[in-house]
Amino acid sequence: MLSAIRFDSGELNQRRWRSDCCSGDCRNILCWKEPEAAMGANIPYVEVHAVDHCNNNCRWCHNYSTFSEKKEYRAEDYFSGLDLLVSNAVNFSMISIMGGEPFLHSNLEEFIYKLLARYRKPIIVTTNGFWMTAEDIRAYKLLWNMLTVFKVSRYPVVTKRLGGDAKINNYFDQIKKYNKRIVIDYPNKSYFNRLDFFDEPVSAKKFCWNSDCTALLVDNRMGRCGAGAYMHLAPQGLLTDKFRDSQDMFYDLTKFNFDSFWLWRKRYPLDACAYCSFSQLQIMGLWKVCQNNKPVFDVEMELEYNVRLVSKLVATNDLEGARAKAISVAENSKKSKEVYNIVGSVFREYGLTEDAGCFYKKALEIDPAFLEAARNMKGLMTRKPR
Ligand code: SF4
Ligand code: SF4
Repeated sequence: MLSAIRFDSGELNQRRWRSDCCSGDCRNILCWKEPEAAMGANIPYVEVHAVDHCNNNCRWCHNYSTFSEKKEYRAEDYFSGLDLLVSNAVNFSMISIMGGEPFLHSNLEEFIYKLLARYRKPIIVTTNGFWMTAEDIRAYKLLWNMLTVFKVSRYPVVTKRLGGDAKINNYFDQIKKYNKRIVIDYPNKSYFNRLDFFDEPVSAKKFCWNSDCTALLVDNRMGRCGAGAYMHLAPQGLLTDKFRDSQDMFYDLTKFNFDSFWLWRKRYPLDACAYCSFSQLQIMGLWKVCQNNKPVFDVEMELEYNVRLVSKLVATNDLEGARAKAISVAENSKKSKEVYNIVGSVFREYGLTEDAGCFYKKALEIDPAFLEAARNMKGLMTRKPR
């Protein structure tokens, strides 16, 4: 996801952090007081990755997620860095959950809840929205109440897959039924800022908004922008050595000093900006697939997400939703017999043998010689009732 986000919406300013309803000892994690925010000495937000990887494959992804191996983080991984900020009186107004694609996290709700419960800061999540259907939105009903801002980057390829903007706007309405105060942002990503790196230094020609990002890594370092903070994910040869050698990019929070921190935070241009095209008059390019020999969408990652979602729906007793989701995923998948078989096993796991049998049967209808489904079906028929 792109990293440059500004929080200047009037709607946001009226939101919950000016809590006039209590004395400040309230235990409701959705309510907070933020006196420091009013004083202005703060960072707009701290960005953390829920995962590094992404199902989408955008050229010029500023976080290099298209190149990342599957990597998921726990909320606890960020506690020591965030605690260092808090204990050193660095006020951050929001926590921004990014990636990669955050919805590929195996338990995004728990990840967010733990951050919200410990820091009581408004949460913003940015997604490419690939997962959106009515069933998914129902399955995430607990999530919507934890979010202050929900940001869906509008990639043309994803919009097309989801059936167009009207459908997506209906999903947004559905989310608002769970949380009337949620701010939904739907920025256009048809054009991408082209990110290139130079061997020879150039002078900065403009201010780069990415320098406001402040990304926290799990080793207690903060990076000034996505392009630098996540350089460990970029393949050899994509970045130049001079860019990688930047001394300004990171701040080690374990060596915190108030003056050096704020000098670092306010500095622009960084030494790295001399080797980065974002400090120049920006060249915009139409959204493109990255030239890395990978498909536009990683179907394995998406399948894993969808199977987890079916499981979530079954666990919350939304069986109708689970069946509908399972069938639509299988119908849109080249591996439909495998999908039916996996989904059958999800239902079997919850003791729903009738549903499990239906899905194994669908797998066998596609391929009567599909051994795995045949074995599962046989196992189901010989299974002793509980
Ligand atoms: S959607 Fe595109 S820009 Fe966003 S993290 Fe994935 S690959 Fe990067
Ligand atoms: S111009 Fe500087 S701040 Fe902006 S993305 Fe490049 S290195 Fe980061």
